[in-house]
Amino acid sequence: MLRDQFGRVHNYLRISLTERCNLRCFYCMPADGIQLSPKENIMRAEEIQILASEFVKLGVNKIRFTGGEPLVRKDFDNIATRLSKLNCEMAITTNGILIDQHIETFKNCGISKINISIDSLKKDKFNSITRRDYFNRVMDNVELLFSQGFNPKLNVVVIKGVNDDELIDFIGLTKEWNTTVQFIEYMPFQGNKWDFSKTVNAEEILRNVSRMFGERNVLKVEDKKNDTSRKYKIKGFSGNFGMISTVSNPFCDSCNRIRLTANGRIKNCLFSGSETDLLTALRNNENVEELIKETVFNKKSQRGGIKNFASEEGRLMSESNRSMILIGG
Ligand code: SF4
Repeated sequence: MLRDQFGRVHNYLRISLTERCNLRCFYCMPADGIQLSPKENIMRAEEIQILASEFVKLGVNKIRFTGGEPLVRKDFDNIATRLSKLNCEMAITTNGILIDQHIETFKNCGISKINISIDSLKKDKFNSITRRDYFNRVMDNVELLFSQGFNPKLNVVVIKGVNDDELIDFIGLTKEWNTTVQFIEYMPFQGNKWDFSKTVNAEEILRNVSRMFGERNVLKVEDKKNDTSRKYKIKGFSGNFGMISTVSNPFCDSCNRIRLTANGRIKNCLFSGSETDLLTALRNNENVEELIKETVFNKKSQRGGIKNFASEEGRLMSESNRSMILIGG
């Protein structure tokens, strides 16, 4: 088992397949773009398979594809097919634009846990957040997934003054849709001009929801051990909603997540400034297992050691981290 120095077991690997995306969300992709890794430094399909199998040997039992946008990777179907042979749960976080082109692969490879990142239900606002015009395509693909028997989750990054006026609309979707709407607190990453005053924490959201639906109709839903979102549901609604509060109420005590970047580096935490280059080690036929164990063991207790994001130290540490697009959430 992959344990860190605090005894947390790590069995959930998030693999970023690409640094590229077909959207330009302002809180993820820095306004002046990013420096992409040279193509030869990006993991090839067979290397992803070898590294993933190393992690599975060490106890990983869930793999999530992320990006950038994982579905823009031309050989996505090939990678998914290779990893579907590993004995673990398969999941993906996608912006939903290309789902219709890969839904058969999802079925064939057992990719059952699908999270769709969508921050507005208003076309104009969606276009202003993403700097692209794909709203209808994304919504059509959400409907397509439901019609094909999937239960996608919706990930919404909530930013004050941008989309915090749509919380009730998103929760309204859970009346008919047996889905989970996850409200993600706006987090600081390199180049996303984060500001604490733009965050909306769980208490604020719950106050709004209770005011709208009546406190007695807002029911707590049991959270599972490693869950990142704290979930609730509206009485009589099919689905539920949750808050992922990394800034105001971190959930690091039960963290089981490791990240592998598209250029083959392990990040033992979303906010860790240090990384381990697994890809070069693999290409040099070095022992990657020890590197994985050591990197996980040295994980900090919380948020990569960032105590307060709003402090000067917190700001500097976040700016020395990668931009969100190069981590994949
Ligand atoms: S901030 Fe780091 S330690 Fe905390 S839950 Fe996220 S990945 Fe885990």
